[in-house]
Amino acid sequence: MIQIAVVSGKGGTGKTVVTGAIAALLPGKIVMADCDVDAANLGLLMRPETIVSEPFTGMDRAFIDPDRCTRCGCCVTNCRFHAISVLKDRVQVDPVKCEGCGVCEYVCLADAVKMVTHIGGAIRSAQTRFGPFIDGALNPGSGNSGLMVHQIRKKAREIAPDIPLVLIDGPPGIGCPLISAVTGCDLVILVAEPGSSGRHDIERLITVCRSLRCRMVMIINRADLVPDGTVLLRTIAKESDIPILCEIPLDPLVMKATRNREPFSLHEGPASIEIRNAVDYLAHELQLI
Ligand code: SF4
Ligand code: SF4
Repeated sequence: MIQIAVVSGKGGTGKTVVTGAIAALLPGKIVMADCDVDAANLGLLMRPETIVSEPFTGMDRAFIDPDRCTRCGCCVTNCRFHAISVLKDRVQVDPVKCEGCGVCEYVCLADAVKMVTHIGGAIRSAQTRFGPFIDGALNPGSGNSGLMVHQIRKKAREIAPDIPLVLIDGPPGIGCPLISAVTGCDLVILVAEPGSSGRHDIERLITVCRSLRCRMVMIINRADLVPDGTVLLRTIAKESDIPILCEIPLDPLVMKATRNREPFSLHEGPASIEIRNAVDYLAHELQLI
C-alpha cells in the first residue's frame, strides 16, 4: 500500500483543498486520512456518510485516591510537568497538564495513585463517493495529537487493504503531528504558497522531511499571487532537488467549488488543468493506472 502525505509549512496554504482535489481524481483508488487532527476539515469537501466513531485513548492519566493519600507532597515535587497541586483538603491532578508518565504512581509510598484510561477524542471512519475516509477529533486540551495521527494512519491502512493508496492530509508546521504524518510515507507533497513567510516555513519543512528521509515533490498554490515569491520557491525547490509537480494559479473556480463543498478538480478551469496533470504524473509514477 502506497502512502502519500500532503503537508505545508504553515496553515492557510490551501493544503486541504489540494488534498481534496487530488482525492477526487482517484475515485476508488484511495483511502483518505485526515491527519490534521487539530483542525480536521477534509470532511467538509469529501462529505463522509455512514460515520462510525470509536473512542481514542491517548496516554493514561494519574488519579489520586483521597482516602489513601497522606498529602506527603512527594508526587508534587517529582512531577516534572507540574500537574499536581496540594489543595486545602486534597491533592489533585490537572488532567490537561498530566502527560501520563507514571512517576507519581512510582514514588507514592501510600499506593494512592492509579493510572486510568483517558478518552482523548474519537476516531471516525466513513464512506465517501471517492473512497473510505478516516479522521479524528481530539477533545480540547487532550494533547497526544501525534499518537492520534499514528492511529488514524493505522486505521486507514487496515480499513481497505485492497485499495492501493492512502492519501494523508497532514498537519501544518513541523511538530510532533507532522513527524507522525510523514514518517514512513512513500511520497510527501509539500504545498507552498508564495508570500513573505513562505521561504522560512518551507525551508524548515524540507529540513524536517529530509531528516526523516522522505521523498518530496512540491505544489505551488496560488502561484501568481506574488510572482517574486513563486520565483523564490522555484529556486528553493531546485536547490533542494525537489521536483515541482504543478503551479496552481489563482482561479475563482477554486473558491466557488470550495464554498459549495466540492473538490475544485471536478470543475473546468486553469487550476483543475494543473492538478489533473499533477495527478496523471503521480498515477503513472506510482503505477496506480
Ligand atoms: S505521593 Fe501519594 S500520598 Fe503523597 S501526596 Fe502524592 S498521592 Fe498523596
Ligand atoms: S503521571 Fe506524570 S505527568 Fe501525570 S501527574 Fe503523574 S508525574 Fe505528573
